[in-house]
Amino acid sequence: MTICRKKNVVILGSTGSIGLQTLDVIEKHTGMFNLLGIAAKDEVAVLAEQIQRYHPAVAAVGDTSSYQELCSRTGKDCTVLSGLDGLCELAAWPEADIVVIAVSGAIGIKPTLAAIQSGKRVALANKETLVAAGDIVMQEARDNNVAILPVDSEHSAVFQCLQGENKHLKKIWLTASGGPFKDLDRIQLDSVTVEMALKHPNWIMGPKITIDSATLMNKGLEVIEAHHLFGINYDKIDVVVQKESIIHSMVELVDGSFLAHLGSHDMRIPIQYALTYPERVVSSAPELDPKLLGALHFESADMEKFPALNLAYRAGRIGGTMPAVLNAANEIAVNRFLTREIAFTSIPWLAEQVMELHEPVNQPDLDSILQADKWARSICRKL
Ligand code: MG
Repeated sequence: MTICRKKNVVILGSTGSIGLQTLDVIEKHTGMFNLLGIAAKDEVAVLAEQIQRYHPAVAAVGDTSSYQELCSRTGKDCTVLSGLDGLCELAAWPEADIVVIAVSGAIGIKPTLAAIQSGKRVALANKETLVAAGDIVMQEARDNNVAILPVDSEHSAVFQCLQGENKHLKKIWLTASGGPFKDLDRIQLDSVTVEMALKHPNWIMGPKITIDSATLMNKGLEVIEAHHLFGINYDKIDVVVQKESIIHSMVELVDGSFLAHLGSHDMRIPIQYALTYPERVVSSAPELDPKLLGALHFESADMEKFPALNLAYRAGRIGGTMPAVLNAANEIAVNRFLTREIAFTSIPWLAEQVMELHEPVNQPDLDSILQADKWARSICRKL
């Protein structure tokens, strides 16, 4: 009889929305998973509480100046690391089986590569990593024979629909909720406040992705993410607004069949699937009763009102360092909106200006990508 040992899980970004929900999934399935390590950017108090509660063997804090504070709040049985090097060391920790990348932004690139290069299964919730460095990350995954399991709900949906159907794929249909401002006109969009933008109609998420959902940049980044994850060109990736967020995405097959993934909008379902794949286990997400759904609605995304989606298609098709530049500019623009420096509609405008100033490098190595990322951030701060 074979006894399956528990899988050791590392979570980078354990204090964020996906991180907390991953902890919940692990807590509900302690027979399957052991929490080996956690990491956060600078939320030392929450990280210290998580260490007390879950007793991971290793913890890391991204901000090096928080290292001493975390050490002073942590017992001797937990190894403490810090900085980007610390995150990479944790991602490559010898006992780790699965690394959940749930940090926000392109900061996830190096830890993701570290996990892949040491042969870990990667549960990827950080789309910015694939947007900025998708070619390199996917190549490393192939070279190291490592599985990258998407946590993003749309990509998890596509991944599930494609089980056994990969060679029949004709087109990917990513669904979008349309965000909270789907029905506003352009003048109303100009006066959107931070508070309004942080209220997503269907999903509970961190601030960066919630703003990205409101501008539709999130969907744009997901188009680029899908291109890399499923090795499909941009003409075969389309977006449809499904405002109830019940259909999490669809695939169209060569014979005209559509397969769709439906479920309640609870991120614990895709998180759990990335951890248990190819198995499925009971989830604590709320049950979905189709009888109560009434209708599901479909419509086109308004690319004129929400230029970010088109911008992402453009960056993706240009390729090279352009998607990294779009992503970096968007990260800074979102921050500037959150600190009330710029208007909501200036987010895609700024990203576009930075893209126009960029001379893309073709087939860039990691250094060129990181350089382009840095350049885009500094230009976007100045504009
Ligand atoms: Mg998504």
